[in-house]
Amino acid sequence: MSPSDKFALLRQQMVAKQLKARGIKDHKVLATMLSVPRERFVQQRHIDQAYTDAALQIDCEQTISQPLMVALMSETLCLTGSERVLEVGTGSGYQTAVLAHLLAKGGELFSMERHPDLARSAKERLIQLGCNDVHVLAGDGSLGWPAAAPFDRILVTAAAPHCPAALLEQLALGGKLVIPIGPRSVQTLQVFSKEMDDTVSNVKLTGCRFVPLICGGS
Ligand code: SAH
Repeated sequence: MSPSDKFALLRQQMVAKQLKARGIKDHKVLATMLSVPRERFVQQRHIDQAYTDAALQIDCEQTISQPLMVALMSETLCLTGSERVLEVGTGSGYQTAVLAHLLAKGGELFSMERHPDLARSAKERLIQLGCNDVHVLAGDGSLGWPAAAPFDRILVTAAAPHCPAALLEQLALGGKLVIPIGPRSVQTLQVFSKEMDDTVSNVKLTGCRFVPLICGGS
């Protein structure tokens, strides 16, 4: 079996056993995760674990998120394909690639990463995989991307003690923001929705564990 056939098979098993069997229903999310090659986003030494049910270490002491978390966060965003989306925490770029596929209908994707090396390598990988239109910026995403705001969706893939005010400000009316909230040891994935009257409501989804969102260098 060629390496690409082997990875395609592992990807099918991941989608069936880790995602569908655990409640991910959105067909577009499942189809996307069947097509994005996670093996291209992990370190060479982890290539045989690319489809395991776990987060894996990447450069700069960060992690590529567990596939189930990527699927759940993507599903929770309820994308139709035409939204302006901000992702905070590009990391490997895997979640970014999933979002880029889900936005193929003319949305726009902005992704911020505080480690310039990760931002650069993620951008290169995204281009190699044909996701040429993603805007990747090295910088503190807890401050958002004011020049590109407002955003219909914001996804934060690092954990914060509370939702950064700048991100809520940059969320469009009718928009949704998904973020893990809590102390460093364990968090809850939460959705903040900005209603048309500018009030914000929030729903707690599930327990999770992410690397910390570093605000202002600390
Ligand atoms: N979605 C990524 C997850 C990476 S882990 C993936 O699956 O690969 C979270 C990332 O958030 C890390 O790369 C970390 O460097 C980044 N990060 C932490 N604080 C940040 C901040 N304030 N602004 C931008 N990125 C941040």
